[in-house]
Amino acid sequence: QSLDAIRSVDSTVKAFLRVDEEGARQSARVLDEQLAKGGDRGLLFGLPAGIKDNIVTEGLTTTCASRFLENYDPIYDATVVKKLKQAQSVTIGKLNMDEFAMGGSNENSAFQVTTNPWNAEYVPGGSSGGSAASVAAGEVYFSLGSDTGGSIRQPAAYCGVVGLKPTYGLVSRFGLVAFASSLDQIGPLTKNVEDAAYVLQAIAGHDPHDSTSAKVDIPDYIGALSGDVKGLRIAVPKEYIGQGVDPKVRDAVMTALKTLESLGATWEEVSMPHTEYAVATYYLLASSEASSNLARFDGVRYGVRAADPDNLLDLYVKSRSQGFGPEVKRRIMLGTYALSSGYYDAYYLKAQKVRTLIKQDFDNVFQNYDVIIGPTAPTAAFKIGEQIGNPLTMYLNDILTIPVNLAGVPAISVPCGLADGMPVGLQIIGKALDESTVLRVAHAFE
Ligand code: GLN
Repeated sequence: QSLDAIRSVDSTVKAFLRVDEEGARQSARVLDEQLAKGGDRGLLFGLPAGIKDNIVTEGLTTTCASRFLENYDPIYDATVVKKLKQAQSVTIGKLNMDEFAMGGSNENSAFQVTTNPWNAEYVPGGSSGGSAASVAAGEVYFSLGSDTGGSIRQPAAYCGVVGLKPTYGLVSRFGLVAFASSLDQIGPLTKNVEDAAYVLQAIAGHDPHDSTSAKVDIPDYIGALSGDVKGLRIAVPKEYIGQGVDPKVRDAVMTALKTLESLGATWEEVSMPHTEYAVATYYLLASSEASSNLARFDGVRYGVRAADPDNLLDLYVKSRSQGFGPEVKRRIMLGTYALSSGYYDAYYLKAQKVRTLIKQDFDNVFQNYDVIIGPTAPTAAFKIGEQIGNPLTMYLNDILTIPVNLAGVPAISVPCGLADGMPVGLQIIGKALDESTVLRVAHAFE
């Protein structure tokens, strides 16, 4: 069914960079045989999944939507891919994204622009745009994405699906091509909250291959979906519903709060005063980390190598000039500048300090409240081509998702209505490692 759906809609949606039809049929056959022999069904038995193309898959080309990795065939599976296999899901193929996960519209892919299944003139969001669109279009049952500054939640919001960014360290990053290592997390995009709980159950857990992986017991996320939010204390930061937020998005969020109130929750307005610095802080830190992480793409070890170099330096310069797209180059230059001696204290170090202040905003609010709620993004999806010419406008779209990554806490986006016919996402943010509450609230609301 999944392969049929891809055949009928993907020429318009363009979510897939690669469909592994043979591999998918083969794993389905193996699952059938195991079942026939009386084997147990895994948690995700037989469910077709799509994987964002920055998560490595053994023998299945993994490009990060970059020319640089056009020919890169990984020799191992990411831990999350291994865990999906253990849970017996079936990998259907690899999903489009902004190059190296840098972007919010999928227009930075070196290969194709994924379209929004609700209206093909609109972006699906990004960077996990292929992951969101493939689920929204019914091509796969669920997908995996990665979220450094909103890349799971924002496309989920734009495409009307559920997207969960787990607590930093809950899901292994082993095999995720690093963008900004202190912010990156892998998480599920699904049709509903219950599915998100199932996928998280399958992929969460300590991994000795990831030194930042949390050594914690994994709770029963599926069992946490009680439907009960009586007595729940919700904080609504005034900075999340103020200036710059489309009134139609604000209305949808206010209606959602009324629904939660009718279910027995209470909400109050709070202030998170450092929110205004989040975008600047993130783009300094994420670019700095990216400039360091992407130094490994030198034309020697991975991917594409430029032809006819004059010498070794020329090989690096030519390979990187030809291999990276404009947004990736912009970030590498910005990050290299921020980290260079003489500027380090003024930019990188300062940004680290502001990151701590932003995290303290969350700590303060969570002393008195169970969850923080607001919109996932200030607007619904915009049209393809509308913002790509102005990187700064594009960066400002991330204002409501970025603080969550800087603080390392979990957050989910669930559909909460429409603005001019396009979906709006409600963002529910929780305490570190309290995915159970985030999922419970989202599930009760949904
Ligand atoms: N839009 C943000 C950026 O361009 C977020 C990306 C992400 O989360 N990977 O950096």
